[in-house]
Amino acid sequence: MSDCIFCKIVDGGIPCDKVFEDDDILAFKDLYPQRPVHLLVIPKKHITSLATATADDVLVLGKMLAKANEIATAQGSPEGFRVIINTGRVGNQEVPHLHMHIVGGQDPVGPMLKRL
Ligand code: AMP
Ligand code: ZN
Repeated sequence: MSDCIFCKIVDGGIPCDKVFEDDDILAFKDLYPQRPVHLLVIPKKHITSLATATADDVLVLGKMLAKANEIATAQGSPEGFRVIINTGRVGNQEVPHLHMHIVGGQDPVGPMLKRL
């Protein structure tokens, strides 16, 4: 997708602070970190969101999850972390290229959600 910011990061058109890459996924530091460790893991292939993912995406989605602990540990969150995949309007997804946040650090990240 030519106008997608994360596709541009995959293509090298926009720089990122890369922490992991293989043929299918890329992980980089979030530009506006909300915890001491705040990373984004994305499929290199454009998938808009979990709402548009299909059976063809099962392997890449599984890889994103399966690599999370290795990436988090290497980046300073060895005792656990949280993954978040915001999806669509209700999920407050801002960037329409599927991405998995990894947040953590030395201290607990806090309650899962603020109560309404
Ligand atoms: P979401 O609200 O789940 O769509 O999260 C989008 C995330 O992308 C936010 O945490 C932003 O800080 C992050 N972000 C936006 N642009 C960039 C960029 N160029 N490099 C790294 N992170 C970015
Ligand atoms: Zn994209």
